[in-house]
Amino acid sequence: MVEIVLTADKTLMSDYHRGEFLGFAACAPAAIPEYIYEKLFCPPAPVDDDGISAKFAPCGLRRIEAALLENGFSRDEVVVVHPDMLNRAVDKRTKVLGVSTNDPLGLGPASSTFSNLAGKEPFNAISFRRLMRSPVIRKHQLKVIVGGPGAWQLEDERIRMKFDIDCVLVGEGELVAPELFKKAVSGEELPRFVHGEVVPLEKFPKIKGATVNGLVEIARGCGRGCKFCNPTMLKFRCLPLEHILEEVRLNLRKVGRVLLHAEDVLRYKANGVIPNEQAVIELFEAVKRLYIEENRPLDIGISHFALSSVVAKPALVSELSEIMEVGTKENPWASGQTGIETGSERLVELHMQGKVRPFKPEEWREVVLEAHEILKENYWVPCSTLVMGLPREEAKDVLETLELIEDLRGYKSLIVPLFFVPIGNLIAESFFTMKKMLPEHWMLFAACLKHDFRWVYTLIDEYFGMTRVAAPRAATIKLFTKYMEKKLKPYIKDMEQGLNPLES
Ligand code: SF4
Repeated sequence: MVEIVLTADKTLMSDYHRGEFLGFAACAPAAIPEYIYEKLFCPPAPVDDDGISAKFAPCGLRRIEAALLENGFSRDEVVVVHPDMLNRAVDKRTKVLGVSTNDPLGLGPASSTFSNLAGKEPFNAISFRRLMRSPVIRKHQLKVIVGGPGAWQLEDERIRMKFDIDCVLVGEGELVAPELFKKAVSGEELPRFVHGEVVPLEKFPKIKGATVNGLVEIARGCGRGCKFCNPTMLKFRCLPLEHILEEVRLNLRKVGRVLLHAEDVLRYKANGVIPNEQAVIELFEAVKRLYIEENRPLDIGISHFALSSVVAKPALVSELSEIMEVGTKENPWASGQTGIETGSERLVELHMQGKVRPFKPEEWREVVLEAHEILKENYWVPCSTLVMGLPREEAKDVLETLELIEDLRGYKSLIVPLFFVPIGNLIAESFFTMKKMLPEHWMLFAACLKHDFRWVYTLIDEYFGMTRVAAPRAATIKLFTKYMEKKLKPYIKDMEQGLNPLES
């Protein structure tokens, strides 16, 4: 039994049947019973060979585990578990519970959008609350330290107290965590709020256990400086190749695949906004060699990429497709998340000039269209976000976005419209909500839904054909999608007229 137990809520401790994009389900409003949600989308991380620790965990939690192990704690003092295992992991020797969270109150863009529209709390917020109310915390009087990308939502004394959290750690945690956990273990008073500093590359601890879907961080931060983005994204750093490959090997051995993670995978080792083709190709080729060495079927995943990087270096996309061997029946496409955000030149100029660079705000529309053409030719499927309700957005801006989405009709992709959330430079603004939606926003929402229903069945077939997930589950998810489409049809008709379907 151990002194420190690390965990995260259930929605983070799942590989979503090896479909990282099904992870969006965590942000969905709880419109179906939780047990169905868990069965259909969110199975728990299996238990590892020791019978207690989780076979995989979020990368951020693994980094904290590694920081503790590299700074004075031993393997038998720290364990990472699924929350279902808390009762077994915690005993009278245990002093601290460390929790990683992405979206504890459901205030992130995806959760707040869908929960606001459906009038129901999202699964991630329910799951976080349930974890924090776990009786084992009170029974053993554990000190609770909560960090992770969503910790900013807890940076309020009333909320901290409501959840009985001893310390909220906002920002990057690797440098400050060892000291905090040492204090907690020795029973010292903890600061209520701590801001973790930016971690220099040489201080990144190497993870000691596998991550969800083999996610391997290749870079941290972004540096493009969109005003609506988290300020922690400002400092852009790329991990050394050797460090990455060690973590790739570990994940290939434990979970059989990797998902390369950066805010823009195409900018690995770039000095500025133009991709460094040689460095990216070298990285992907080295990862592929490890797949061959470890005798794993090639299945390199990508988390995010920028449309402007695609257009800046189209040949890079085509080289990567060759390396990843996409465009075959077994491996029909590569996919990743990207941001379109708006089709309005005026809003690009106001809020996201950095996202467009090296191009100009007036070129954004063309960049988006050209990027989709390049991606299509090279078998990449983007899952794009839009931001509705950006400060100073007017009806004509929304119509420009709507036009752009209609022009993307023929491109196999998913487009997810999200409500603006005030963070970063725009923290003084207010949340965008359903009540603030203009008729044009409803029309845009309808266009996105129609686009997604147009492509989602093909994507499910192709995705589940990629041997990642069992076919019967594909049939269930397809049935569920068909049911949702049927239910939403009359609502979409209203939205197309610019009407709020919940009021009409
Ligand atoms: S490009 Fe994306 S990650 Fe980078 S600053 Fe803009 S919104 Fe943030």
